[in-house]
Amino acid sequence: MKKILVSILASFVFFMTSAAAFAEDVMFNTKTLRYHSISCRYVPVCTVNCIKIDKKEALKRGGIPCKVCGG
Ligand SMILES: [Zn+2]
Repeated sequence: MKKILVSILASFVFFMTSAAAFAEDVMFNTKTLRYHSISCRYVPVCTVNCIKIDKKEALKRGGIPCKVCGG
């Protein structure tokens, strides 16, 4: 019984970490459609058309990953 409980807990932890990995915020430029990871050096430069959205949302809008940070 204890073994089952441990495996349930392990899969739950795995699910939580993978869900967190999916919810990745990126800086998306609505004009050029390029998106950057938050730590990218181009993020502070992008002030006018950039919005912080989920990476999945950026891809849905036709986002192109940045050549420097890879999105
Ligand atoms: Zn970038």
